[in-house]
Amino acid sequence: MALIVVSNREPYAPRSRDDGGLDWVPSIGGLTAALDPALQHTGGTWIAWGEAHPDVREVQLPQDNPRYRLQRLRLSEAEVRDFYHGFSNRALWPMSHYFIERTRYDVVAWQTYVTVNRRFAEAAVAAYRNGDTIWVHDYQLALVPRMIREMLPDAPIGFFWHIPWPSTEVFRTLPWDRELLDGMLGADLIGMHTTDYVRYFQAACRRALDADTDEGVVHWQGRTSRVVARPIGIEVDVFEDLASRPDVEDEADRIRRTLQTLILLGVDRLDYTKGIPERLEAFDAYLDRHPDARGRITLIQIAVPSREQVDSYRQLRARVEGLVGRINGKHTHSGWSPIQYIYRGVSREELVAHYRAADVMLVTPLRDGLNLVAKEFTACSRDGALILSRFAGAADEMKEAVQVNPYSPGGLAEALQMALNMPLEEKKARLQRLRSRLHASDLRTWAEDFVKEIADQ
Ligand code: UDP
Repeated sequence: MALIVVSNREPYAPRSRDDGGLDWVPSIGGLTAALDPALQHTGGTWIAWGEAHPDVREVQLPQDNPRYRLQRLRLSEAEVRDFYHGFSNRALWPMSHYFIERTRYDVVAWQTYVTVNRRFAEAAVAAYRNGDTIWVHDYQLALVPRMIREMLPDAPIGFFWHIPWPSTEVFRTLPWDRELLDGMLGADLIGMHTTDYVRYFQAACRRALDADTDEGVVHWQGRTSRVVARPIGIEVDVFEDLASRPDVEDEADRIRRTLQTLILLGVDRLDYTKGIPERLEAFDAYLDRHPDARGRITLIQIAVPSREQVDSYRQLRARVEGLVGRINGKHTHSGWSPIQYIYRGVSREELVAHYRAADVMLVTPLRDGLNLVAKEFTACSRDGALILSRFAGAADEMKEAVQVNPYSPGGLAEALQMALNMPLEEKKARLQRLRSRLHASDLRTWAEDFVKEIADQ
């Protein structure tokens, strides 16, 4: 049995060599880490958008020991604009994260979304052989399961929605709500990160489609789809190994020696869902209210550039940089500045060194499908405290974190006070309990179990 994975991003990206050839470098991110081993094991095909070097349509991966085929779809500039930036990132992304005022429900973008989804579906059908299992990923490709189903009525199809599923009144703002649900219900198995998302999804099916639902299933047009909460994990071993490497430890010590203060850490893509301005403002208010903390705490904010073609992301960057400037201008004295702002992606080693150096990790998104940073910090931390937004999907599984409402500046400041004053034994005990759960469902197990579940339907 082979596996067919369909996702927007590709698992390896091409990089030009000096001799004119291409090196295929694994993409950073959970999806590659989860599914590349699974595909290497079963063999099969990964279908994705070939962004760089689009003329290369097909490659065997991994390059040095080929186990499966990457089939790359070429998208035109207009398709990228309308399917990806337009509909996926300006309609579905803000809507699913409850930012209705940021949505742009543009009909041309929708039509292009349909067209591009069809191309992914056709590629999957062409790759399919009897006995294969198909796994489609995420909000960019929600119509693909139905499109495949129409061509392959008996194929085992799974779908995973990686972002939040919003409550019904928010979902109803989408003018193509019925089409989207119908698209997803082409799958036998639909996965999401939390039981709340599953419940909201089922409620949307009842409301928009008048479909029948039972515990964990939706009946629609003579077929039944199972809908399950399967929160994604991280590569626990990889992070633990990195965290215990001497060079990473040295780097963590260097960060601490340079600052000579307690360290708060934020690590986020620069996205309006991550609550970065709210976090900075809460930190500012905390320093106002606790003058004794000045000179004794530094917030390191790593902001990874993201979607810079979209206006609202450029505006967010300007807002965050303005806030950092204002807060640093206000509080800086005798060589100490409250915020160190890093606007770039960092290597995994550097990231883990920061996790090791941090006393308190601030994960305070306004809304987040899951949030891997919270889990990675938990795997790596020496004896730090985790502050976690109740609106991150991970909050469901991470009850020992200091949970917080990121909309409440007073609440954030209180959580900060609590985390900074938490006795060492308590921090260790909380980390211990959080860690034991990470081990129970790591990334590879998550992927393998989901593939099995699709095939078992
Ligand atoms: N990350 C990264 N580059 C960096 C900093 C972080 O690739 O410079 C990774 C981080 O390790 C984590 C992911 O980006 O795995 C962020 O995932 P998360 O679920 O927290 O948020 P998302 O960006 O998917 O919304």
